[in-house]
Amino acid sequence: MTLEDNLARAAGYLQQFKAQPILHRIGGKDVAASDGLTFESLSPVDLSVLASVAQGTAADIDAACLAAKGAFADWAATPGAERRAILHAIADGIVARKEEIAFLECLDTGQSLRFMSKAALRAADNFRFFADRAPGARDGQSLYGNNQINMTNRVPLGPVGVITPWNTPFMLSTWKIAPALACGCTVVHKPAEFSPLTARLLVEIAEEAGLPAGVWNTVNGMGEVAGKALTEHPAIRAIGFVGESRTGSMIMKQAADTLKRVHFELGGKNPVIVFQDADLERAADAAVFMIYSLNGERCTSSSRLLVQNSIYDKFIEMVVERAKGIQVGHPLDPKTTIGPLIHPVHEKKVLEYFQIARDEGATVALGGEKVGEAGCYVGPTLFTNATNDMRIAQEEIFGPVLTAIGFDTEEEALALANDTQYGLTGYLWTANVTRALRFTDRLDAGMIWVNSENLRHLPTPFGGNKASGIGRDGGDWSFDFYMETKNIAFATSQHRIPKLGG
Ligand code: NAD
Repeated sequence: MTLEDNLARAAGYLQQFKAQPILHRIGGKDVAASDGLTFESLSPVDLSVLASVAQGTAADIDAACLAAKGAFADWAATPGAERRAILHAIADGIVARKEEIAFLECLDTGQSLRFMSKAALRAADNFRFFADRAPGARDGQSLYGNNQINMTNRVPLGPVGVITPWNTPFMLSTWKIAPALACGCTVVHKPAEFSPLTARLLVEIAEEAGLPAGVWNTVNGMGEVAGKALTEHPAIRAIGFVGESRTGSMIMKQAADTLKRVHFELGGKNPVIVFQDADLERAADAAVFMIYSLNGERCTSSSRLLVQNSIYDKFIEMVVERAKGIQVGHPLDPKTTIGPLIHPVHEKKVLEYFQIARDEGATVALGGEKVGEAGCYVGPTLFTNATNDMRIAQEEIFGPVLTAIGFDTEEEALALANDTQYGLTGYLWTANVTRALRFTDRLDAGMIWVNSENLRHLPTPFGGNKASGIGRDGGDWSFDFYMETKNIAFATSQHRIPKLGG
């Protein structure tokens, strides 16, 4: 397939958005915003308008929450095996439309087809993974006590809100929504305003697969309006949120009055730590992959490169050699690795960090500039001679931007790695097993890979420490969040009950 072929096919898929705006999906019906307002979704390739989208109001959120509330009792009572069948049918529907999903995601987010062609399959896997766990979601334990048998079980919380970001939006939404549906919750989804296209496809696929109306509702719009109203709505029992740390902090405040349970997957400034005894070829491949794939717009990207000084120059050269070969271009070009950043607002932020790096005195070893005139393109960038107190070493840039810092000792590496507000992931490269055990025990991060890039195994816990999040997803952890654990105690004897009075 050439870029021209892909552009022609993408134009076909875009047709569905030309006829009318993307409307909310509430109670199984297309619904316009209560005040009729829409916003435009732009392609970061050339800032062309891909679709106009209903701009959700508090009234729209209210309608969606009431629909989710109304659908809850029946969905919660649906046998687990039936929920499993519907979730598998949703996965089948996603696979059947995988090319459409990939092409639209590329145009809406700027992510390259090279990576987005796999996004739908991973999304389908997410549904299958939680589908198979649906029948056992309510299982609990029996706990024997004196004069009683205790029976624990779990019950779905009720209607929940899911608020998602613009990076890999299709895949991420499925990761948050599939477990909620699997355990019997109903959902109101508020997708990110920068990338709303595939969220529409997702809810459509779910309903075509047999999900009853009202079980899954989607309301588009701005975070400060639609997102905020969702976090404040009294019918919503919990908020599953993926996004920036400061937004998480706002949501916590907004959700406080209604005492909502919150689950946060937030930002990161993740270190890749390379010791001189590591397999340097593999470490360099992984370091390059983990910062320059997905445009670096990835919460788990390794944006800080900590390298032992004895191999610093050699390793930097290896990274530069590899990064120089990365093609920046149209996301639908099969040769492209880095496409345009999501939006001019985000591009401006990344370009500002290029200036900050220079002002702070870091060396630009690669990139550090806008690429071309049109579209939100920047190239793979590497800053060397940095120190950990620089803003480029502390703040999440969320682009293809790597900051390299040298260290001498293991203690120093650990101190540098932990010296940030974040604690999402860490990537350690060493041949010394004892050191790996010691280091990973003290590294303050929710997920650590040793001698590997970020390879996910779905049953493992996913989440971050410190400002990177609250709670874990995956396996049973997702059900723990979306469910309430209940204990029922049965008396097993005519034990003596204390008599008061009389
Ligand atoms: P963001 O926080 O700006 O927006 C995320 C979502 O929150 C959007 O839907 C937005 O409309 C909504 N929102 C904004 N303000 C809100 C408010 N006051 N109340 C309710 N909702 C509100 O994040 P983003 O820029 O879309 O995404 C990038 C961020 O997401 C990065 O920080 C990245 O690290 C993080 N992220 C984390 C993970 C993870 O698993 N830890 C995964 C992906 C992305």
